[in-house]
Amino acid sequence: MPEKYWPETVILWGAGATKPLGLYATKELIQLVIKINDNDFSFLENKNEELKNAFKKLVTVDLIKDNKLSKIYDLKALEIIINTNPKLNMHELFTMLDQLIDNDMGFNAFCKGKTEFLRVERIKGAKRCLILLIEELERLSVQKEPGYMDSVNVEPYYQLSKILTELMKEEAKYFEERGYKRDTRRFYLYSYAIISFNWDPILLWNLFNAHKEQNDNPMYLEGGLKLRLFDDFGTKIASTEIDSDESEIWYTADESQCKRVNDYKYPSRIIRVGKILFPHGIFGSRICPECGKYITTFGGRWDRLSTEVFGPSVSKGLQSNWQYKTKRESKYKRGALECPYCGQITYPYDMPLIMQTLAKKRSISPLEEIKTEMGLLMKNAKHIIFAGYSLPLDDIMVKTFFMSSIAGNDRNKLKCTVINYDEDYKDGENWLRGESIGKYIKESTNKSVVECIENVCDIFNLQNVRVSLKGMPDVFMKNGKCEKEKVIDLLYPKEYFREGFPLIRE
Ligand SMILES: [Zn+2]
Repeated sequence: MPEKYWPETVILWGAGATKPLGLYATKELIQLVIKINDNDFSFLENKNEELKNAFKKLVTVDLIKDNKLSKIYDLKALEIIINTNPKLNMHELFTMLDQLIDNDMGFNAFCKGKTEFLRVERIKGAKRCLILLIEELERLSVQKEPGYMDSVNVEPYYQLSKILTELMKEEAKYFEERGYKRDTRRFYLYSYAIISFNWDPILLWNLFNAHKEQNDNPMYLEGGLKLRLFDDFGTKIASTEIDSDESEIWYTADESQCKRVNDYKYPSRIIRVGKILFPHGIFGSRICPECGKYITTFGGRWDRLSTEVFGPSVSKGLQSNWQYKTKRESKYKRGALECPYCGQITYPYDMPLIMQTLAKKRSISPLEEIKTEMGLLMKNAKHIIFAGYSLPLDDIMVKTFFMSSIAGNDRNKLKCTVINYDEDYKDGENWLRGESIGKYIKESTNKSVVECIENVCDIFNLQNVRVSLKGMPDVFMKNGKCEKEKVIDLLYPKEYFREGFPLIRE
């Protein structure tokens, strides 16, 4: 019989969850691209001077005057396209670019009193530029001092990561005491999984750091074996080791290692893994243009606040601490990352990000694999948390994918938590249920939150849904600190899991 154990709680992590970090949502990103196009840099007003200048230089000098960069990332072409209709939203813009590229068609633009024809090569350049701008804007948004995130903003996410790590340690102890075999999923698989629809690696980086602190000072299990905690990305991703000068290949952990390492015949240490998936891709990752492998970087050193985890930038000033590791990377710069498999140089435009588009998606095999894993996680979950993730209303594909993923799940049993933010309700009761949800939907003037809740209630049974309007990170904070009891209530509420934490795996 196949092992039937899956993470009981699946967290869908979206833009709303990272807003307090300064990261922009899609809607804001397109507004910023339009502002850049209008030479309006008012959004940089409160930014550090060095960062402000570096960003301005990128969009007014590097992407315009640099011979190589301006051809690859065609900002001028992007501006021409946007100028024909500044009301475009991101979804429409990407769909339009993809349609033209798929059909091998150019674009005839009438603006500033004349027409200009852009050949399809320039449409491709415009799309690359749009993705580059999104990446650079997000990297910029989290930087306080050049190269570093704001420690105050990041603190709640770090505390959350510490508590999640602690819970997975406790789980290991309880599961061992109950006699769950350590080479089975029942023991080694975390009871929570994260599916991030964001491209930013901030939560991941905090979890990595919290895990590392545990692993460096580990808990001991049966037979004096050290416990080690890792993350599984749902596909094999190669990188190079953090804190190492070598560019030797290095892999993220995965489930198959748990089987080997936890083997009773060869006791050395005990590992557990949690699933953390990025079905839309992650900043800093690349598909190697030569060998086709999926690679990424987590930066050069263990520094919790460093932005290096976003990967190298085409602009030195926007990733000031980045050190190129190999000779070829140092030679080519401009965001170069050497493929640890074949040695080919990859660039930011090799970054596979899934954008909202109605055009036929080019299949990117590692991301397809992650999507399959995501479907399985959803299908086998007992409790799904929408953490700042709103089903995109204009993307029916996403909603239908969700519907089919959970179709095999008993709807009467599948529980759901929605965390959203409403200024007017943030001080109200902790959880809205049943009629209170209906009342909120009727009374609230916050259209986007109401739509998000309605969408979720379309998929789940209303009596299995609870809603918090306190937003992230307040939903798990008390007196300015992340509280363990609140995290447990968020992930493993007694109303959904009778036994509470730690869960019982029958
Ligand atoms: Zn390669």
